Amino acid sequence: MIVGVLALQGAFIEHIEMLAHLGVPSRTVRKKRDLAGLDGLIIPGGESTVMAKLASSKHSGYLFDELRMLAQAGFPIYGTCAGMILLARDVLEGIEGQPHIGAMDIVVRRNAFGRALQSFVIDLSIPMLDVVSGATEQAPDFPAVFLRAPIIERVGQGVDIVATLDDSTIVAARQDHILASSFHPELTGDTRFHEYFLAMVAGRV
Ligand code: GLN
Repeated sequence: MIVGVLALQGAFIEHIEMLAHLGVPSRTVRKKRDLAGLDGLIIPGGESTVMAKLASSKHSGYLFDELRMLAQAGFPIYGTCAGMILLARDVLEGIEGQPHIGAMDIVVRRNAFGRALQSFVIDLSIPMLDVVSGATEQAPDFPAVFLRAPIIERVGQGVDIVATLDDSTIVAARQDHILASSFHPELTGDTRFHEYFLAMVAGRV
């Protein structure tokens, strides 16, 4: 298995390190041709407007067009934070006409926590992760790191809600082969979210 990490901008190194820690070979993706032969892709956090611009450029080989086609064909993708924004069908507080992949039937709101709460960590109970938590009777909470994070305001049919805050705000979801989280598992020492995505790539969950 080889997993790509979109490396145009943002926190891609941390994803590569986490995959290496899990013993999974990875490849940085900057152009369309870098996608050849990959089993899945992670889109990191960063600045979605910048990533969108770069990934729709001729220089990238129109990477987004290719990703849109791959996603329709069942290619597994995991987006964190800005990555989630790029995967969403619709973006609120986005830039008018901003290109995105749109592979997931969710509506997200960018920068949803405002200035006062630019970054914070919350321990979340995520039952989906039980499949990768081993034999523990009750899996420990997941430390969710939020950085100028988006939230999911609406999900379509066929989208499973993976994690919510206490007030029911949706912060992670899965639709078939697409996974998205508002928070950044790559900035923690907890590998379970990545392990779950790798299990999706392997077709085990
Ligand atoms: N606020 C950023 C955006 O709109 C996302 C922040 C992040 O990825 N940490 O793209």
